[in-house]
Amino acid sequence: MLFALTPFQQALITWFHREQRPLPWREGYIPYQIWISEIMLQQTQMERVTLFFDRWLQQFPDIHSLALAPEDKVLKCWEGLGYYSRARNIGKCAQIIVRDHDGVIPSDQKTLLALPGIGPYTAGAIASIAYNLPVPLVDANIGRLFARLFDIDIPLTQAQKFLWQKAEELVPQGHARAFNQGLMELGALICTPKDPACKQCPVNPFCIAHRDKLIAERPIPQKGKKQITIEMATGILTHPQGDGRLFIQQRLADDVWGSLWEFPGGRLKEGERPEQAVVREFFEETGFTVQVDQKITTTIHHYTRYKVILHCFLCSFDLLESEARPDPILYAAQDYRWALLPELANFAFSAGHRKLIEFINIQPLFFDSITLRESHTNRSTGRPIMAVVKKKDL
Ligand code: SF4
Repeated sequence: MLFALTPFQQALITWFHREQRPLPWREGYIPYQIWISEIMLQQTQMERVTLFFDRWLQQFPDIHSLALAPEDKVLKCWEGLGYYSRARNIGKCAQIIVRDHDGVIPSDQKTLLALPGIGPYTAGAIASIAYNLPVPLVDANIGRLFARLFDIDIPLTQAQKFLWQKAEELVPQGHARAFNQGLMELGALICTPKDPACKQCPVNPFCIAHRDKLIAERPIPQKGKKQITIEMATGILTHPQGDGRLFIQQRLADDVWGSLWEFPGGRLKEGERPEQAVVREFFEETGFTVQVDQKITTTIHHYTRYKVILHCFLCSFDLLESEARPDPILYAAQDYRWALLPELANFAFSAGHRKLIEFINIQPLFFDSITLRESHTNRSTGRPIMAVVKKKDL
């Protein structure tokens, strides 16, 4: 059944059909793919998502393969996208949908909202984009677009109710898929944060900020929250046998970066030097008494609200203090491994620790006390496996 469109709706939908970017999940509007793409797009740039999306579909082509996958495998496939609670919720969600909904992604907003990791935005995206139902959605792009279209003169965090009401009023029956995507696409491509391309904007006749020359002042900026700096220390501990294996542990599931793998470490206490912190953290987390052999690097990673400065050290067992025993007592982790450097690629790490691994892979000769040597030969490829080895172990 066809529904009459207002001039605003018509202009936007026509523009979307003409200008939309070709994205893999727009080929068939398969609900599973729409859901995954929408979760990936939260906090992540479109270009990056398109790279990860294909890889994801190769690993988990449908909801059944995802529901059967162990969490470790899901996290590994998500590695690089950050905000890992999204991946954990995707896994839980898939299991619930297979168990309770015969593997069919629900279209009803209330049912969607009851699923882990699905809030009003994602519920709106699945209902409207996958099922073409007239359900509203508001994301950052739409918020900025509405701030200009309707000349919202308060910060958007205080205007959420108004934004959602407007989105609900505007979304047309029978055309929700094109309309909601049109709003998002217009915000992303034309009504950009800086220098919006108003001349090319299909809805400029309806835009109050454009008419009143207020674009530079909309949206009203939010008083900035200061980014918090956290200083941490971590240690790469070599196996006492000197065979190049490194100690890694898997964080507790309900912790920050839950179930990801890491080198032990933690936040510096007041007045503590990073070298002291890493020794203390090792003891508190594993019962290992270690010594710092060398500074490896310092990495900096920015999260939405935090800047994490991570001091990284090469460590070994402190034989003056205690006997080297490679079995830890895990106080802050659920599992551990002694793994060779190339084997670390099989585990999912947080961005800071992944940067550290990349640094070691790229810069082995940078260190004066460690080197890479051939440790084993990979039986299937015949290629040598390299190991981090302290010079005194050679
Ligand atoms: S006219 Fe300009 S400010 Fe208004 S919605 Fe279009 S791009 Fe945004």
